Amino acid sequence: MVEITALPAFDDNYIWLLRANGHVAVVDPGDATPVIAHLADSGDRLCAILATHHHGDHIGGVAELAARWPVPVFGPALENIAGVTRPLAGDERFELPEIGVALEVIAVPGHTRGHLAYYGPNIGAAGALFCGDTLFGAGCGRLFEGTPAQMQASLAALAVLPAPTLVYCAHEYTQSNLRFAAAVEPGSVAVQRRVESVARERAAGRATVPTRIGIELDTNPFLRWDAPAVRAAAAGRLGHAPADAIETFTAIREWKNRF
Ligand code: ZN
Ligand code: FE
Repeated sequence: MVEITALPAFDDNYIWLLRANGHVAVVDPGDATPVIAHLADSGDRLCAILATHHHGDHIGGVAELAARWPVPVFGPALENIAGVTRPLAGDERFELPEIGVALEVIAVPGHTRGHLAYYGPNIGAAGALFCGDTLFGAGCGRLFEGTPAQMQASLAALAVLPAPTLVYCAHEYTQSNLRFAAAVEPGSVAVQRRVESVARERAAGRATVPTRIGIELDTNPFLRWDAPAVRAAAAGRLGHAPADAIETFTAIREWKNRF
């Protein structure tokens, strides 16, 4: 049974740990220090390092960890990340035998050119998705290297995962993202309820992730290109009705950039 826990890093990053049988795999170790502290405190043995994309807050600790523990380092083949020993592309699968986990690789370009998400359909009862800076609680990553059409397709590929799937995002951005979601869909009861529940969680010092695909489908404006209220909001920005999902997504993403 794999246990998934977060190591907070920097201001709002989460480094995810997958632990079982005294072994641990780490996702997006932007900083080696908390990972090293965890290994020392727990006695866990590091068995793998996974990177979703090349930004420093996700890979800053890779070199130091890999130097101390020569474990496989999985990461996007399309990105230049020092220390990656197992370059991956979308639709590949790999196993982490020490913790009994099989992961599917989903290519999710947009935030960066080669961004990958890792999906474990058999992790826990619901499955688990490690999506880096692609899908956030009530939001999505900024488009640094990809086009809006690429990001919309990437998010669409995540949206079709089973609704209960737990979504392990790399940042605690949900509360500020929900302020934008409420501006896009001021009439949404689901968004209002989430605003309130997330405010309670944050006030209590708790993380708002993992979230679930189903929660995001109901409240995340960046997955709701088919919702009439989101299409109407996009039309208001564009001055005309959006032609398709990509145009709706693009208008909403542009709005968020200025929000
Ligand atoms: Zn990033
Ligand atoms: Fe990041």
